[in-house]
Amino acid sequence: MVQKLSILALLICFGFSTFAQDAYMNASAEDIEKTYLGGEAYKVKTFTQEFKSEKPKNIIFMIGDGMGVTQVFSGITAHHGHLFLENCKHIGFSKTQSADKYITDSAAGGTALSTGVKTYNGAISVDLNKKQIKTILESSEENGLATGLVSTSAITHATPASFIAHQPQRSMYEEIAADFLKTDIDVFIGGGRDHFNMRKDSVNLVEKLKENGYRYEEDMSAVKRVKKGKLAALVADVHTGRLSERGDMLPVATKTAINILSKNDKGFFLMVEGSQIDWGGHANSTIYIVEEMLDFDKAIGKALEFAAKDGETLVIVTADHETGGMAITGGIMNDGVVKAGFPTKGHTSVMVPVFAYGPGAEEFIGIMENTDIHDKMKKLLLGK
Ligand code: MG
Ligand code: ZN
Repeated sequence: MVQKLSILALLICFGFSTFAQDAYMNASAEDIEKTYLGGEAYKVKTFTQEFKSEKPKNIIFMIGDGMGVTQVFSGITAHHGHLFLENCKHIGFSKTQSADKYITDSAAGGTALSTGVKTYNGAISVDLNKKQIKTILESSEENGLATGLVSTSAITHATPASFIAHQPQRSMYEEIAADFLKTDIDVFIGGGRDHFNMRKDSVNLVEKLKENGYRYEEDMSAVKRVKKGKLAALVADVHTGRLSERGDMLPVATKTAINILSKNDKGFFLMVEGSQIDWGGHANSTIYIVEEMLDFDKAIGKALEFAAKDGETLVIVTADHETGGMAITGGIMNDGVVKAGFPTKGHTSVMVPVFAYGPGAEEFIGIMENTDIHDKMKKLLLGK
């Protein structure tokens, strides 16, 4: 803390933008939130670029909700110049517009990525006529692949929901939870327990999951010990807390899901969401964004580590949209200091990055529609 204060004092001395006019104690809480003062470091490994196959047997699809190029670079700066993400050598951009809006929400954005169809904001894998659209997770299941979802929000929230549920509105959490029971998903880890067992209809979906052969867990210390079988892990009433509260839940959940799914001979499809990068953007908090970005990068590290060893796994990292219009207005790379400004508390329309690693990664270069990401993944994984 002393070190952080001295860095801040240094920034003030050297006229670090608006901070120059304010003594630290006079800076508003909001201004303090706009500067990340550096934090703990983890080891970033470099992985092989040689793979066993030309086409992937498995796909790990990672969505940083609200993660634009600036959010990525805030993480790079905060982490002194390097992220696991930089192992991805094939990079493109995705256009995120929804069917009815220039600026998408996470439901239409998730649906475009999960189904290859642009729909209206708020839609969970239904089209403009509210007709259900099959998701890549459902198609993977039909083809005998194992499937999984991991998120740091409620597992019923728009992004994960759009891979498994079909509802006309994202707010229909209890209906979305019921949709999980209509599928054969192997692993899901996230929040959203209330939508399963504190329901208006009094049906206890957790009991039904157990009847359907799922091992049910509520605590990450138990979750991380699961090596095989079907796992339903609801680790929060609704959303998991911020990093300080939930700890290494996301990287551990990612590794656990990969462990379990990789037991399937035919391969697997796993979607992992860093849900709260978006919430940091909505809060216009650089600190929140950087914390979430680095945590998501640690989860990316778990995926890449498996993919490098396995040689038949494609890892794709992208976003549904950018949030906050984040602009980095200052920083110190060596100290991991990042200062940002934000013109909006909402989403923006800008293209988001697409990063790929593994067999088939070369398909994900150039400027593409968000729906193309689905089409390319499906063709590579399922051959159609
Ligand atoms: Mg989300
Ligand atoms: Zn959002």
